[in-house]
Amino acid sequence: MRWSKSCIPTFKEDPSEAEIPSHKLMLRSGLIRKLTSGVYTFLPMGYRTVRKIEKIVREEMNAIGCQEVLMPILHPTEIYEESGRLETFGPELFKLKDSRDRTFALGPTHEEVITMIARDDMRSYRSLPQCLYQILSKFRDEIRPRYGVIRAREFIMKDAYSFHVDDESLDETYRKMEGAYRRIIERCGLEYCIVEADSGYIGGEESHEFMVLAGNGESTILSSTCGYAVNQEQAVAKEDPDRRVGENSGDPYIELSTPGMATIDEVSGFLKVEPYALVKTLLYRTGEKTAALLIPGDREINDIKLVNASGDPDIRFLTPDEIVKATGAPVGFSGPVGLPEEIEIIADPLIEAYESMIVGANKKDAHLKGVVQGRDFRIDRYEDLVWAKEGDLCPKCGEPLGMSRGVEVGHIFKLGDKYSASMDATFIDEKGEMHPFIMGCYGFGISRMAAAAIEQHHDDDGIVWPASITPMDLLILPVNVNNEEVLETAFRLERELEERGIDVLVDDRDQSPGVKFKDADLTGIPLRVTIGRKLKEGKVELFHRATREIEEIPVEKVLDVILEKIER
Ligand SMILES: [Zn+2]
Repeated sequence: MRWSKSCIPTFKEDPSEAEIPSHKLMLRSGLIRKLTSGVYTFLPMGYRTVRKIEKIVREEMNAIGCQEVLMPILHPTEIYEESGRLETFGPELFKLKDSRDRTFALGPTHEEVITMIARDDMRSYRSLPQCLYQILSKFRDEIRPRYGVIRAREFIMKDAYSFHVDDESLDETYRKMEGAYRRIIERCGLEYCIVEADSGYIGGEESHEFMVLAGNGESTILSSTCGYAVNQEQAVAKEDPDRRVGENSGDPYIELSTPGMATIDEVSGFLKVEPYALVKTLLYRTGEKTAALLIPGDREINDIKLVNASGDPDIRFLTPDEIVKATGAPVGFSGPVGLPEEIEIIADPLIEAYESMIVGANKKDAHLKGVVQGRDFRIDRYEDLVWAKEGDLCPKCGEPLGMSRGVEVGHIFKLGDKYSASMDATFIDEKGEMHPFIMGCYGFGISRMAAAAIEQHHDDDGIVWPASITPMDLLILPVNVNNEEVLETAFRLERELEERGIDVLVDDRDQSPGVKFKDADLTGIPLRVTIGRKLKEGKVELFHRATREIEEIPVEKVLDVILEKIER
């Protein structure tokens, strides 16, 4: 393939719309172009990588006995009414009307469509288990599309669905799928971890996410050396169970003067205690009621957990005026002691470890020390409220958790009978009795994977493609295309390699060497043959993009050397 006649538009500057390296590099190196917010074209080089990822995914799906199908993108919304997902999916479901005013959705995932197929065409236990998959564009009306193809409104995904007679059979397929996903990511040359996850809008009983590790990934992972890993959003904060905070001497609490000190840092610094010796009291309004939340001074409220604990998606902080009205003191001096009965007091379970604590006095410029729960104030209920953090203890082995970031590329779910029960999809067992199918579903983001690979493999100069998913195996760079011998050597090598099935790009553009070398680094093809002045001495240079190592090779040996490096 010749660069001069290819659509590989590169540019030097970082596009202003891009926040993270993969998005910048995909635009700059001409892999993708934006059509509109969250909607992208894959240009020839980008699509080559997509196709290579698809091939690996297909091979691994077929290897565990999955069957490839192709379902429609256009779905009548009645099927979402049947499954109950029209409500739960909410505004992210893309809806449109046809000329007869019927409502359709652009498929976000295909649980409903595939469940209808099973309902009609897999009636007997004898035909189970089965697993079907497809590779298709999916649609989600993201409120805030960002990070290029990582959070797009249209994206390419592999989705698979399995049907079983019982949980045991589902478990077997679930483990096979986990193995297939591991092999896919490993074959793509990426480091990853598997985390326990929330089932979210898909629903179901158990789910795991596959995270490609990357410093700018949108997910934060807490993980342990024992292999346990969890998405920080769901992690429960766990501290040493033997750690007791404060002391209960039996004496009543005392009031301390803390003039103008309204933050945890100010108060703990002034009193010379650790921030966690203080307990924060945060006041929220839910409906007509006010709630006080108690959390350790060194922790933050996790809003998702708060919404779950309150059952109110519209829960909000009290305004400063409302705080004065509720407690009699300005912001920063709230505490649980003496709060009116009608304010519900909810505490994070970490508060149980406090024998005594320092809290706001509900009085301007004052805090209380030696406050004891149960004696000095009531706790109405305990709820998991706070963000877990690095150093919290692993629930499996008890060792401190480390923190890393990742891009989610795969998500597998045990659905159980969630869809089959609501959509009345049943099979007939050996006794002639009908049961709802037990189901699993398994998503893998193909376009996301291309971005995740770049997120993990790039440097200051550009992309550093893993060999298995690079758009091209080799770049041939004739430095001066006006030198006939140089250009002829380049084209001869191109022909010889293409005959052997190697993907070769020749940069035959009449550009300055500076531009060509910069573009070569930017586009990140793993191997580069530079044909320049040394050709007079019968030599070319072989450059390794990942290590920046250069080998001088006699021109008559270059074919063999390359074939050896690109094993296939
Ligand atoms: Zn552990």
